[in-house]
Amino acid sequence: MSKKTIALLPGDGIGPEIVAAAKLLLQALGDYNFQEYPLGGASLDAHGVALTPEVLDACRQADAVLMGAVGDYKQRSPELDRPEVGIDQIRQGLKIYANLRPIKLYSALLNSSPLKREIIEGTDILLVRELSSGSYFGKKVEGTEVASDNCEYTRQQVENIAHLAFQLAETRGQKFKVTSIDKANVLASSRLWRHVVNEVSGSHSGIELEHMLVDNAAMQLISRPRDFDVLLTENLFGDILSDEMATIVSSLGMIPSAGLSLHGPGLYESAHGSAPDIAGAGIANPIATFLAVALLFRYQFQDEDKASSIERAVEKTITRHRTADLVRLADTEDSEPKEALIVVNTQEMTDAVTSNL
Ligand code: NAD
Repeated sequence: MSKKTIALLPGDGIGPEIVAAAKLLLQALGDYNFQEYPLGGASLDAHGVALTPEVLDACRQADAVLMGAVGDYKQRSPELDRPEVGIDQIRQGLKIYANLRPIKLYSALLNSSPLKREIIEGTDILLVRELSSGSYFGKKVEGTEVASDNCEYTRQQVENIAHLAFQLAETRGQKFKVTSIDKANVLASSRLWRHVVNEVSGSHSGIELEHMLVDNAAMQLISRPRDFDVLLTENLFGDILSDEMATIVSSLGMIPSAGLSLHGPGLYESAHGSAPDIAGAGIANPIATFLAVALLFRYQFQDEDKASSIERAVEKTITRHRTADLVRLADTEDSEPKEALIVVNTQEMTDAVTSNL
């Protein structure tokens, strides 16, 4: 079997640190070809654009793409794009239509969340976010007196993402339930969304479907997260809700994401940004990127053994080892006897997870 090629896009801020850590993890798991390319601010500095056609082409030829994070707040000439343009361009260029974000609470982190343990214990949600359309990609008008972002969805786009959500609810084998989130009481795009999701539900008879308005969902998700299984939502709502749900699992540094394409390689990344406030300090939590590598094995290489071995290694490691973002006062005040927690940096966390594989 020929060696698989993984394109690495470290990006900006903590991106290079967490991608270097993920490369070490991948090297501990097998023999892969790595090709590294600039994206975002790094690409603007090197080539004057946030993503070059050559890099996009190389990513299309790869077996999978692993991205760090993009965004560096550097002052550049106003004619140049912002670094974050590179994220939309790589997603569009690879025709990524779905973004999967597992929100799974590891029991070792029960006391690290700001939410009460009796509410969050047992949370295991898969957020399925539509990624190719909605207001992020619609026609934009930007003026000093009026501005707009058009939110448009086609039947085909909703069908594609809805079928995926129902299939994932079937294969996850948990509550066999899809909660579709929209704003159908106000938005026309949401009414089409709800209509098409109802139709798609007809061909997945074993899966329960519920609809929930996004404002209500924002409250229900952190009041009773255990009741949810697969969440299906459009682009903007999914972006916001996934950050809200980071409070359940204690840190954005624990949420990976898989971008799936209908044709070609997927884009695997953490859900967090480039964290310029801690860039270069060597303390970034690499776990979200490790869990993104697990998703890469699960969804791209269909290698469930490697995917679950990474997830088990992470679960074991965080019982003792924590990067600073995973330590809260509650952890140290907990009355239950347990081994002392060790606060580690990126390199130490990488060594610990790799040795627990
Ligand atoms: P952020 O996710 O970068 O950071 C939010 C907070 O979480 C910060 O305090 C940060 O230190 C912390 N944090 C995030 N990841 C962490 C990790 N792995 N370990 C420890 N702490 C971590 O969000 P932001 O500050 O709003 O955005 C910073 C930049 O990232 C902006 O330029 C934004 O546009 C960009 N961004 C990029 C992506 C992406 O590349 N996919 C996603 C979101 C934001």
